[in-house]
Amino acid sequence: MLKIDRLSTSYKTIHGDVRVVNNLDFTINDNEIFGIAGESGCGKSTLLKALYDIIDFPMQVDSGRVILSGEKEGNPFHFETGEIRKTWWNNISYVPQAAQSVMNPITHLRNQFLDSIPESQRKNETKKQTLERCAAYLKELDLSPDLLGAYPFQLSGGMRQRVIIALATFMSPNVVLADEPTTALDVVVQRGILMMLMRLQRQLKNTLVLVSHDMGVHYQITNRMGIMYSGSFVELGKTEDIFRDPIHPYTEMLIGALPRVGDKSQKAGIPGRPPALTNPPPGCRFAPRCPKAKEICHRECPEFVEVRPGRFAACHMLGKEGI
Ligand code: SF4
Repeated sequence: MLKIDRLSTSYKTIHGDVRVVNNLDFTINDNEIFGIAGESGCGKSTLLKALYDIIDFPMQVDSGRVILSGEKEGNPFHFETGEIRKTWWNNISYVPQAAQSVMNPITHLRNQFLDSIPESQRKNETKKQTLERCAAYLKELDLSPDLLGAYPFQLSGGMRQRVIIALATFMSPNVVLADEPTTALDVVVQRGILMMLMRLQRQLKNTLVLVSHDMGVHYQITNRMGIMYSGSFVELGKTEDIFRDPIHPYTEMLIGALPRVGDKSQKAGIPGRPPALTNPPPGCRFAPRCPKAKEICHRECPEFVEVRPGRFAACHMLGKEGI
């Protein structure tokens, strides 16, 4: 459905090109919730932009491509990097980190809905009929149809996010990409947004790709996940397997830093910070922070290999040191 084929992207800067996504090669399946986890600055949002084909200067694709293919209402489709934007909203849509950044603050929501529905998808309707469909859809999602007459600034952060999710799913896209959709929202609203995303995915039986730095979010809703560090995946597999038995030291530390109900012990966190992508360390990029690092780790980059069916990791110590 969504194939990421040896994709590398970078940003052009005055100091030269800075590689942010490094030779990623994996597939996201139909009808699954796929999570992308990792600390800030590891390339998650850049990867999502590449999946959505928002490749605007200074971002560039150095090699590889993204392939979006499948079938909708009996019609097969196939788009690659450079073409995917032709099918925005219809086959693939995007829920950004801050809903207000994509909404025009001085335009009624009804116009924002109309602007996002191409003529070809209006099914020969009048504007009034399309808006009636929008109102019915909002109602189906337990949102008031009166929202169509509101301006974005009149809504709370949580309500704006719900409206953006409604907008992103209105045309039943095959893939929905969500970039930190619960950031800056309080925990009760966060839960409501996650439940809404899960419910829509089940209803549409489509693919949801969820970027979040919050491992708790991944545990709650994703089926499979990839752990990203410094532009590459260090581990990928079924979410429940990763939480039950993390392989990579970075994954283990991310999970170990999660607070748990009833556990009063002090959480240590992960010492240090991800390396600057302008000057990454040689060898394994996690080595400066890894308690299990050996000499080879500072010299050679570990390969990303299939450890067991469907489970991948990149670490020199696989099979040793309890990894
Ligand atoms: Fe740690 Fe070495 Fe594995 Fe990197 S390759 S995660 S430094 S043990």
